[in-house]
Amino acid sequence: MVRGLSQWTKTLSFPARISPQKSSKDTKFYVNTSNTSLANDKIDRTPIIIDETLHNPEAEKALMGSIVYCIHHKDGCKWSDELRRLKAHLNTCKHDAVSCNNRCGAMIPRLLMEDHLKYTCAQRRTRCDFCTKDFTGQTLEKHEGLCGYEPLYCENKCGMKIQRRNVEQHKLSECGKRLVACRYCFKEFVFDTLEVHHTKCGHFPVACPHRCETEFLPREDLEIHLKDHCTTHLLSCSFKDAGCRFKGNRLTLDRHMEESTKMHLSLMCSVVTKQHHQITSLKSVMNKLSINYTGTLIWKVSDYGAKMTEAKTKEGMELISPPFYTNQYGYKLQASIFLNGNGTGENTHLSTYIKILPGEYDSLLRWPFAHSVSFTIFDQMTQVEKACNIVESFIPDPTWKNFQRPSREPDSLGFGFPRFISHEMIKKRHFVKDDTIFIRVKVDPSKIVAV
Ligand SMILES: [Zn+2]
Ligand SMILES: [Zn+2]
Ligand SMILES: [Zn+2]
Ligand SMILES: [Zn+2]
Ligand SMILES: [Zn+2]
Ligand SMILES: [Zn+2]
Ligand SMILES: [Zn+2]
Repeated sequence: MVRGLSQWTKTLSFPARISPQKSSKDTKFYVNTSNTSLANDKIDRTPIIIDETLHNPEAEKALMGSIVYCIHHKDGCKWSDELRRLKAHLNTCKHDAVSCNNRCGAMIPRLLMEDHLKYTCAQRRTRCDFCTKDFTGQTLEKHEGLCGYEPLYCENKCGMKIQRRNVEQHKLSECGKRLVACRYCFKEFVFDTLEVHHTKCGHFPVACPHRCETEFLPREDLEIHLKDHCTTHLLSCSFKDAGCRFKGNRLTLDRHMEESTKMHLSLMCSVVTKQHHQITSLKSVMNKLSINYTGTLIWKVSDYGAKMTEAKTKEGMELISPPFYTNQYGYKLQASIFLNGNGTGENTHLSTYIKILPGEYDSLLRWPFAHSVSFTIFDQMTQVEKACNIVESFIPDPTWKNFQRPSREPDSLGFGFPRFISHEMIKKRHFVKDDTIFIRVKVDPSKIVAV
């Protein structure tokens, strides 16, 4: 059957929307010609071609009674009924497109209208999340990407989010990662590191630590300032080591040196005294270290001639040996000689004596002193085998008070030999050589006479 569409249209007053997407001439409907069942296998899928010249009430009635699907069948509408009810169905079909309620001009299936009005309609009412101003959908699209209140991450990666309207200001004067020049050395630094740089910057102004009249100066000049220019830098008095505690700047130090001569002198005196004591005690330590603990003293008497001449004019001139010990913890002894003789040997002989001095270990020793003592004067012949030494010795008499423990330095001569060797004998042999004589004093704990 072929029928003209305009005829149809006139008769049925089909809504214009049935066919906007279809060709104007060939509108096709799927008709169920069996008229009873909608089973797929019985559907006659032959399109009905409506001929606009047809105007046959009988045929029209039959046609209108044919069973059809909704034109949105493919979109999922399950409706199916007589053709004459199609128009009414389309007025409510969820899949049928209608004009947007907001008059944006779009045709929207009823089913999607709610979403459209909410989200996509150009005329919908909405607001910007950032600035909260009201917009239509269309104007919001233009606003997006421009809104001054939208927070954006800082391009310098400082980690901050800044509203678009404040970004320039932030980059210029707030961002911790912006580059800024040090005001003192003019080199560029990331703002965050500037403070650390200031603690090192050579041009950074620092105050003189002595608060002199130079208020601020570049850090790199401070050392020279302190050394050469600072008027308040405290200098120590040059008598500091002697005990002067004065500290002052260049000017007051000069004045101090002028005014304190007496004080400095007395400081120096006490230094000298102190040093003197130190030297004395050092000497005694040295003497102790060099003391002889062997029990044998070999006493070198040099300048014999001069000493002899002196002895002849000075009556009783005695030469005293260094003290020595009989052994490490033994008796302390001292020998003496009279070059010009003493007592019965006066003017004719050389006299020798020994006495006991108070020693360090006296309280541990046996008293009276009972060691044998011998004196030897050496004949200094070149041929040693022909030499003839003179020896005298004695064993102490325990009853004699000089061999008791001495409580203080004894003033007596001690024990000895006033006529040890005659002046004549001295001249005969080589007892004097190189103007020197050697006397040996030997102490022996055994009672055997020591030689
Ligand atoms: Zn439908
Ligand atoms: Zn709309
Ligand atoms: Zn906005
Ligand atoms: Zn930043
Ligand atoms: Zn700097
Ligand atoms: Zn200064
Ligand atoms: Zn001083």
